[in-house]
Amino acid sequence: MSLKYSGQCLCGEIKYSVDVEPVFMGNCHCKDCQRSSGSAFIPAMVFPEQDVLISGLAKYFDSGVDSGNVHSRGFCPNCGSQLFGKFSNMPGMIGIKAGTLNETSNYVPKLDLYVKSAAHWDFMNPNLPKKQGSAQSE
Ligand SMILES: [Zn+2]
Ligand SMILES: [Zn+2]
Repeated sequence: MSLKYSGQCLCGEIKYSVDVEPVFMGNCHCKDCQRSSGSAFIPAMVFPEQDVLISGLAKYFDSGVDSGNVHSRGFCPNCGSQLFGKFSNMPGMIGIKAGTLNETSNYVPKLDLYVKSAAHWDFMNPNLPKKQGSAQSE
């Protein structure tokens, strides 16, 4: 199995590995990502769920997003690390937070999302395309 996209939570109770390339990689600067991570943005990779092997049981917290969809955020119930995301408008897909990778340099973001709600101290790579809202927005 490829170790390129493998990782774990802080305590090690939850581990994952993926053998395929992500269908999406980008930094989300929405307010919910700021609040849930305690940071400026969440570096997100999205994979087909069937290609992600997970050991350990994440707990999921659901929140509504501005589009009316539901975003379920998966975290380790023991150490609180955020690892996963599932989206009601993307069935069969799972998001993985790149900070949990064993090799974080394997994450290569392609764009910045929800820059309209970014914190003023959130410095972004000026070379990446910017979306005011979701990946589908302007
Ligand atoms: Zn943990
Ligand atoms: Zn977000």
